[in-house]
Amino acid sequence: MEEPRTSTPFPEVAGHPALDLVDTVHWRLDPSRAIDTLTDFADVIAWCRQLGLAPSAVTDAALLTATPAATATREHRAVVALREAVYEAVFERSERAAELVAREHAAALSRSALRRREEPATWEWDVPHDATGPRAAIAMIAHDLLTADLASARQCADDACGWVYLDRSPRRNRIWCTAAGCGNRNRVKRHQAKRTS
Ligand SMILES: [Zn+2]
Repeated sequence: MEEPRTSTPFPEVAGHPALDLVDTVHWRLDPSRAIDTLTDFADVIAWCRQLGLAPSAVTDAALLTATPAATATREHRAVVALREAVYEAVFERSERAAELVAREHAAALSRSALRRREEPATWEWDVPHDATGPRAAIAMIAHDLLTADLASARQCADDACGWVYLDRSPRRNRIWCTAAGCGNRNRVKRHQAKRTS
């Protein structure tokens, strides 16, 4: 049995789960510092659980123990590829990347079923209750993001951070991923540069 993960929660500052997924890479714009916090399939499951993206059958620790190592590796790699495709499709306008999201979305739909739920009353995609479930749930949100209005998609103005988000500020002038993190650090940096110049 794997120990439950106790590491810091994944960031949720993006305003859309598919961009929160992109933000599982820290310091994306500085290859010497970049940290990928989705290190394996256990992280993928933990991420889906934290975001409330998939039914418990797909986010439960039991799924991990029931998944053969080779399948876990395959699913982890596929999710990372999907994450990078979201980034490239939104921020680099890559058609190849958008095609990958489209393929994953079509595959996810073909293996999911619409199920009625109440409160809120809606029909909801029920992804496969197996190791492909997390990838399917992620493909659904990736497609939702790509086909939504992307005019407010932004990347943090920090040189290295690379976190992305939807700017929903009233004046459309949010330039930092978080005011307390990159905003504050860059304010201090500017202040120090002024004092020493
Ligand atoms: Zn930032």
